[in-house]
Amino acid sequence: MGRDNRTLSRRQLALGAAATGLGLGCHRHERPPSRLVLPRPRPPEPSTVAEPRPSPVIELRMDDFAVGDDHMEQWVQRRAEAVAAFLGGFPVDRVDLRLNARWGSRVGFGHVYIQAGEPNLRINIGRDITAAKLDADWVLVHELLHFAIPMLADEHRWLDEGTATYLEPLIRARMGNVDERYVWDQFIWGMEKGRPRPGDRGLDATPTWGRTYWGGALFSLVADVRICAETKGRHSLQDAWQAIARESGGRVVRWPIERLWAVGDRATGTQVLSKLHHDWAHTPRDVDLDALWAEMGVIRDGDDLVDLDDQAPRAWIRQALTRPSMQPVERAPVIERTA
Ligand SMILES: [Zn+2]
Repeated sequence: MGRDNRTLSRRQLALGAAATGLGLGCHRHERPPSRLVLPRPRPPEPSTVAEPRPSPVIELRMDDFAVGDDHMEQWVQRRAEAVAAFLGGFPVDRVDLRLNARWGSRVGFGHVYIQAGEPNLRINIGRDITAAKLDADWVLVHELLHFAIPMLADEHRWLDEGTATYLEPLIRARMGNVDERYVWDQFIWGMEKGRPRPGDRGLDATPTWGRTYWGGALFSLVADVRICAETKGRHSLQDAWQAIARESGGRVVRWPIERLWAVGDRATGTQVLSKLHHDWAHTPRDVDLDALWAEMGVIRDGDDLVDLDDQAPRAWIRQALTRPSMQPVERAPVIERTA
Protein backbone atom coordinates (compact mmCIF):
# COMPACT_ATOMS: atom_id res chain seq x y z
CA MET A 1 0.00 0.00 0.00
CA GLY A 2 2.92 2.32 -0.61
CA ARG A 3 2.01 5.70 -1.94
CA ASP A 4 5.24 5.85 -3.82
CA ASN A 5 8.62 4.22 -3.71
CA ARG A 6 10.73 7.29 -3.29
CA THR A 7 13.41 7.35 -0.73
CA LEU A 8 13.49 10.59 1.21
CA SER A 9 13.62 13.43 -1.24
CA ARG A 10 15.66 16.54 -0.62
CA ARG A 11 12.39 18.27 0.06
CA GLN A 12 11.40 15.80 2.71
CA LEU A 13 14.82 16.00 4.29
CA ALA A 14 14.47 19.75 4.45
CA LEU A 15 10.90 19.86 5.64
CA GLY A 16 10.12 16.52 7.17
CA ALA A 17 11.10 17.26 10.72
CA ALA A 18 8.49 18.63 13.04
CA ALA A 19 7.95 22.26 12.37
CA THR A 20 6.32 24.91 14.42
CA GLY A 21 5.22 28.38 13.50
CA LEU A 22 3.90 28.95 10.05
CA GLY A 23 5.94 32.07 9.40
CA LEU A 24 3.31 33.45 7.08
CA GLY A 25 2.03 36.93 6.52
CA CYS A 26 -1.04 37.56 8.56
CA HIS A 27 -3.05 40.00 6.47
CA ARG A 28 -6.26 38.51 5.29
CA HIS A 29 -8.85 40.47 3.42
CA GLU A 30 -11.46 37.81 3.94
CA ARG A 31 -12.17 36.58 7.41
CA PRO A 32 -12.19 32.79 7.44
CA PRO A 33 -15.26 31.29 9.07
CA SER A 34 -14.29 30.24 12.55
CA ARG A 35 -16.05 26.88 12.47
CA LEU A 36 -14.40 25.58 9.38
CA VAL A 37 -13.12 22.03 9.54
CA LEU A 38 -12.62 21.91 13.27
CA PRO A 39 -13.62 18.49 14.54
CA ARG A 40 -17.11 18.81 15.91
CA PRO A 41 -18.15 17.06 19.08
CA ARG A 42 -20.49 14.17 18.54
CA PRO A 43 -24.04 14.46 19.82
CA PRO A 44 -24.33 13.07 23.33
CA GLU A 45 -25.37 9.46 23.62
CA PRO A 46 -29.01 8.98 24.63
CA SER A 47 -29.25 8.49 28.38
CA THR A 48 -31.03 5.20 27.85
CA VAL A 49 -27.81 3.66 26.59
CA ALA A 50 -26.56 1.78 29.62
CA GLU A 51 -23.12 0.71 28.51
CA PRO A 52 -20.80 3.18 26.82
CA ARG A 53 -18.86 1.85 23.87
CA PRO A 54 -15.47 0.60 25.06
CA SER A 55 -12.38 2.46 23.91
CA PRO A 56 -10.84 1.27 20.68
CA VAL A 57 -7.80 -0.92 21.18
CA ILE A 58 -4.59 -1.18 19.20
CA GLU A 59 -2.99 -4.47 20.03
CA LEU A 60 0.67 -3.75 19.41
CA ARG A 61 3.30 -6.40 18.85
CA MET A 62 6.74 -5.39 17.78
CA ASP A 63 10.26 -6.61 17.29
CA ASP A 64 13.26 -4.89 18.88
CA PHE A 65 14.18 -1.47 17.53
CA ALA A 66 17.15 0.73 18.36
CA VAL A 67 15.00 3.56 19.70
CA GLY A 68 13.35 1.26 22.24
CA ASP A 69 9.84 -0.06 22.85
CA ASP A 70 8.52 2.98 24.67
CA HIS A 71 9.50 5.32 21.88
CA MET A 72 7.87 3.08 19.28
CA GLU A 73 4.69 2.89 21.33
CA GLN A 74 4.55 6.69 21.71
CA TRP A 75 5.04 7.05 17.97
CA VAL A 76 2.04 4.80 17.35
CA GLN A 77 -0.06 6.46 20.04
CA ARG A 78 0.48 9.99 18.81
CA ARG A 79 -0.34 9.19 15.21
CA ALA A 80 -3.36 7.08 16.11
CA GLU A 81 -4.67 9.94 18.26
CA ALA A 82 -4.21 12.39 15.40
CA VAL A 83 -6.23 10.13 13.10
CA ALA A 84 -8.89 9.72 15.82
CA ALA A 85 -9.03 13.50 16.29
CA PHE A 86 -9.61 14.07 12.60
CA LEU A 87 -12.28 11.38 12.27
CA GLY A 88 -14.10 12.20 15.50
CA GLY A 89 -12.97 8.87 16.93
CA PHE A 90 -10.69 6.01 15.96
CA PRO A 91 -12.59 4.33 13.14
CA VAL A 92 -12.52 0.66 14.18
CA ASP A 93 -12.87 -1.01 17.58
CA ARG A 94 -9.70 -3.07 17.37
CA VAL A 95 -6.55 -3.23 15.28
CA ASP A 96 -3.89 -5.90 15.40
CA LEU A 97 -0.72 -3.91 14.66
CA ARG A 98 2.58 -5.65 14.10
CA LEU A 99 5.83 -3.71 13.62
CA ASN A 100 8.31 -6.03 11.94
CA ALA A 101 12.01 -5.23 12.19
CA ARG A 102 13.95 -5.33 8.97
CA TRP A 103 17.50 -4.46 7.99
CA GLY A 104 18.18 -0.74 7.68
CA SER A 105 16.85 2.47 9.14
CA ARG A 106 13.70 3.49 7.32
CA VAL A 107 9.96 2.94 7.52
CA GLY A 108 9.04 0.51 4.77
CA PHE A 109 5.76 -0.73 3.37
CA GLY A 110 2.58 -1.04 5.34
CA HIS A 111 -0.14 -3.56 4.66
CA VAL A 112 -3.74 -3.32 5.83
CA TYR A 113 -5.95 -6.39 5.70
CA ILE A 114 -8.97 -7.96 7.34
CA GLN A 115 -8.61 -11.46 8.71
CA ALA A 116 -11.54 -13.29 10.30
CA GLY A 117 -13.32 -9.96 10.48
CA GLU A 118 -10.47 -8.32 12.41
CA PRO A 119 -8.50 -5.32 11.09
CA ASN A 120 -4.76 -5.97 10.80
CA LEU A 121 -1.84 -3.72 9.98
CA ARG A 122 1.72 -4.83 9.33
CA ILE A 123 4.56 -2.36 8.84
CA ASN A 124 8.17 -3.22 8.07
CA ILE A 125 10.62 -0.88 9.77
CA GLY A 126 14.40 -0.79 9.76
CA ARG A 127 15.79 -1.99 13.09
CA ASP A 128 18.08 1.07 13.27
CA ILE A 129 15.35 3.62 12.60
CA THR A 130 16.04 6.93 14.36
CA ALA A 131 13.62 9.12 16.29
CA ALA A 132 13.96 11.80 13.59
CA LYS A 133 13.02 9.40 10.80
CA LEU A 134 10.03 8.11 12.74
CA ASP A 135 8.96 11.71 13.27
CA ALA A 136 9.19 12.42 9.53
CA ASP A 137 7.29 9.27 8.54
CA TRP A 138 4.02 9.37 6.60
CA VAL A 139 3.33 5.64 6.29
CA LEU A 140 1.63 4.98 9.62
CA VAL A 141 -0.92 7.81 9.33
CA HIS A 142 -1.65 6.78 5.74
CA GLU A 143 -2.26 3.16 6.73
CA LEU A 144 -4.39 4.01 9.76
CA LEU A 145 -6.63 6.11 7.52
CA HIS A 146 -7.49 3.01 5.48
CA PHE A 147 -9.39 1.72 8.52
CA ALA A 148 -11.90 4.56 8.12
CA ILE A 149 -12.80 3.51 4.59
CA PRO A 150 -15.25 0.66 4.04
CA MET A 151 -14.13 -2.06 1.67
CA LEU A 152 -15.05 -1.02 -1.86
CA ALA A 153 -15.29 -2.66 -5.26
CA ASP A 154 -11.93 -3.01 -7.02
CA GLU A 155 -12.62 -0.22 -9.51
CA HIS A 156 -12.79 2.26 -6.64
CA ARG A 157 -9.34 1.56 -5.24
CA TRP A 158 -8.43 5.13 -6.21
CA LEU A 159 -10.82 6.36 -3.54
CA ASP A 160 -9.22 4.19 -0.87
CA GLU A 161 -5.64 5.15 -1.73
CA GLY A 162 -6.41 8.70 -2.80
CA THR A 163 -8.23 9.53 0.41
CA ALA A 164 -5.36 8.23 2.53
CA THR A 165 -2.84 10.08 0.33
CA TYR A 166 -4.74 13.36 0.57
CA LEU A 167 -5.67 13.33 4.25
CA GLU A 168 -2.33 12.11 5.60
CA PRO A 169 -0.38 15.40 5.28
CA LEU A 170 -3.40 17.42 6.43
CA ILE A 171 -3.60 15.35 9.60
CA ARG A 172 0.14 15.60 10.19
CA ALA A 173 -0.10 19.36 9.84
CA ARG A 174 -2.96 19.52 12.32
CA MET A 175 -1.01 17.46 14.87
CA GLY A 176 1.95 19.83 14.48
CA ASN A 177 4.16 17.22 12.84
CA VAL A 178 4.68 19.20 9.62
CA ASP A 179 3.91 22.77 8.64
CA GLU A 180 1.55 24.22 6.06
CA ARG A 181 4.32 24.66 3.52
CA TYR A 182 5.20 20.97 3.69
CA VAL A 183 1.61 20.04 2.80
CA TRP A 184 1.39 22.25 -0.28
CA ASP A 185 4.88 21.35 -1.40
CA GLN A 186 3.82 17.69 -1.35
CA PHE A 187 0.59 18.46 -3.17
CA ILE A 188 2.38 20.45 -5.88
CA TRP A 189 4.67 17.46 -6.40
CA GLY A 190 1.91 14.88 -6.30
CA MET A 191 -1.31 16.30 -7.75
CA GLU A 192 0.31 16.74 -11.15
CA LYS A 193 0.74 12.95 -11.23
CA GLY A 194 -2.97 12.48 -10.65
CA ARG A 195 -4.05 14.21 -13.86
CA PRO A 196 -5.32 12.00 -16.71
CA ARG A 197 -2.80 11.00 -19.37
CA PRO A 198 -3.62 10.16 -22.99
CA GLY A 199 -5.72 6.99 -23.11
CA ASP A 200 -7.21 7.59 -19.66
CA ARG A 201 -10.74 6.20 -19.23
CA GLY A 202 -11.73 7.91 -16.00
CA LEU A 203 -10.89 7.09 -12.37
CA ASP A 204 -12.96 3.91 -12.21
CA ALA A 205 -11.29 2.39 -15.28
CA THR A 206 -7.67 3.58 -15.11
CA PRO A 207 -5.89 1.65 -12.36
CA THR A 208 -2.42 3.15 -12.88
CA TRP A 209 -0.24 4.17 -9.94
CA GLY A 210 -0.62 7.88 -10.69
CA ARG A 211 -4.38 7.82 -11.04
CA THR A 212 -4.89 5.47 -8.08
CA TYR A 213 -2.86 7.40 -5.50
CA TRP A 214 -2.71 10.95 -6.81
CA GLY A 215 -5.79 10.87 -9.05
CA GLY A 216 -7.71 9.87 -5.95
CA ALA A 217 -5.96 12.60 -3.96
CA LEU A 218 -6.83 15.15 -6.64
CA PHE A 219 -10.47 14.05 -6.44
CA SER A 220 -10.33 14.62 -2.68
CA LEU A 221 -8.73 18.05 -2.98
CA VAL A 222 -11.21 19.25 -5.60
CA ALA A 223 -14.11 17.86 -3.56
CA ASP A 224 -12.84 19.47 -0.36
CA VAL A 225 -12.46 22.90 -1.96
CA ARG A 226 -15.92 22.65 -3.51
CA ILE A 227 -17.56 21.62 -0.24
CA CYS A 228 -15.83 24.45 1.63
CA ALA A 229 -16.79 26.98 -1.05
CA GLU A 230 -20.40 25.82 -1.47
CA THR A 231 -21.06 25.81 2.26
CA LYS A 232 -19.06 28.99 2.89
CA GLY A 233 -16.83 27.12 5.26
CA ARG A 234 -19.51 25.40 7.32
CA HIS A 235 -18.46 21.99 6.05
CA SER A 236 -15.49 20.22 4.54
CA LEU A 237 -14.49 16.75 3.40
CA GLN A 238 -13.72 16.02 7.04
CA ASP A 239 -17.45 16.05 7.86
CA ALA A 240 -18.05 13.50 5.13
CA TRP A 241 -15.37 11.12 6.39
CA GLN A 242 -16.44 11.50 10.00
CA ALA A 243 -19.95 10.48 9.03
CA ILE A 244 -18.83 7.65 6.75
CA ALA A 245 -16.49 6.22 9.41
CA ARG A 246 -19.13 6.50 12.11
CA GLU A 247 -22.03 5.04 10.13
CA SER A 248 -20.08 2.26 8.47
CA GLY A 249 -17.85 1.19 11.33
CA GLY A 250 -14.91 1.51 8.94
CA ARG A 251 -12.93 -1.15 7.16
CA VAL A 252 -14.85 -4.06 8.63
CA VAL A 253 -17.77 -3.67 6.21
CA ARG A 254 -18.16 -3.68 2.44
CA TRP A 255 -20.15 -0.80 1.01
CA PRO A 256 -21.27 0.11 -2.49
CA ILE A 257 -19.79 3.48 -3.34
CA GLU A 258 -23.25 5.03 -3.76
CA ARG A 259 -23.94 4.47 -0.08
CA LEU A 260 -20.69 6.17 0.82
CA TRP A 261 -21.61 9.20 -1.28
CA ALA A 262 -25.10 9.32 0.23
CA VAL A 263 -23.68 9.52 3.74
CA GLY A 264 -20.90 11.92 2.78
CA ASP A 265 -23.18 14.27 0.87
CA ARG A 266 -25.75 14.29 3.64
CA ALA A 267 -23.05 15.18 6.19
CA THR A 268 -21.94 18.17 4.13
CA GLY A 269 -25.40 19.22 2.95
CA THR A 270 -24.16 19.14 -0.66
CA GLN A 271 -24.04 16.78 -3.63
CA VAL A 272 -20.38 17.43 -4.27
CA LEU A 273 -19.10 13.86 -3.80
CA SER A 274 -21.73 12.02 -5.82
CA LYS A 275 -21.65 14.58 -8.62
CA LEU A 276 -17.88 14.68 -8.84
CA HIS A 277 -17.67 10.90 -8.97
CA HIS A 278 -20.40 10.75 -11.60
CA ASP A 279 -18.40 13.24 -13.64
CA TRP A 280 -14.96 11.66 -13.17
CA ALA A 281 -15.75 7.92 -13.03
CA HIS A 282 -15.56 7.12 -16.74
CA THR A 283 -14.38 10.38 -18.27
CA PRO A 284 -10.79 11.67 -18.14
CA ARG A 285 -11.55 15.04 -16.54
CA ASP A 286 -8.50 17.22 -16.24
CA VAL A 287 -7.99 19.83 -13.53
CA ASP A 288 -6.49 23.24 -14.23
CA LEU A 289 -3.91 23.08 -11.46
CA ASP A 290 -2.48 26.50 -12.29
CA ALA A 291 -5.88 28.03 -11.65
CA LEU A 292 -6.45 25.93 -8.53
CA TRP A 293 -3.11 26.87 -6.99
CA ALA A 294 -3.63 30.53 -7.91
CA GLU A 295 -7.02 30.82 -6.24
CA MET A 296 -5.69 29.08 -3.12
CA GLY A 297 -2.58 31.23 -3.00
CA VAL A 298 -0.12 28.41 -3.63
CA ILE A 299 2.75 29.96 -5.57
CA ARG A 300 5.05 27.48 -7.25
CA ASP A 301 8.01 27.31 -9.53
CA GLY A 302 7.74 24.02 -11.39
CA ASP A 303 7.63 21.29 -8.75
CA ASP A 304 8.64 23.58 -5.92
CA LEU A 305 6.61 25.68 -3.55
CA VAL A 306 7.79 29.29 -3.56
CA ASP A 307 5.33 31.01 -1.26
CA LEU A 308 1.84 30.97 0.19
CA ASP A 309 -0.26 34.05 -0.56
CA ASP A 310 -2.83 34.83 2.11
CA GLN A 311 -4.48 37.46 -0.11
CA ALA A 312 -5.63 34.88 -2.68
CA PRO A 313 -9.43 34.51 -2.98
CA ARG A 314 -9.50 31.00 -1.50
CA ALA A 315 -6.51 31.26 0.82
CA TRP A 316 -9.00 30.92 3.70
CA ILE A 317 -9.82 27.40 2.53
CA ARG A 318 -6.15 26.49 2.19
CA GLN A 319 -5.42 27.75 5.68
CA ALA A 320 -8.39 26.00 7.24
CA LEU A 321 -7.40 22.62 5.84
CA THR A 322 -4.21 22.50 7.91
CA ARG A 323 -5.23 24.50 10.96
CA PRO A 324 -4.32 22.65 14.16
CA SER A 325 -7.20 21.17 16.07
CA MET A 326 -7.81 22.26 19.65
CA GLN A 327 -10.56 19.75 20.28
CA PRO A 328 -10.02 16.91 22.74
CA VAL A 329 -9.59 13.57 21.03
CA GLU A 330 -12.70 11.44 21.12
CA ARG A 331 -12.49 7.67 21.25
CA ALA A 332 -8.71 7.68 21.28
CA PRO A 333 -7.35 4.17 20.98
CA VAL A 334 -5.76 2.43 23.95
CA ILE A 335 -2.55 0.60 23.15
CA GLU A 336 -2.15 -2.88 24.55
CA ARG A 337 1.36 -4.18 24.12
CA THR A 338 1.75 -7.90 23.70
CA ALA A 339 4.84 -9.99 23.34
ZN1 LIG B 1 -2.51 2.88 1.09
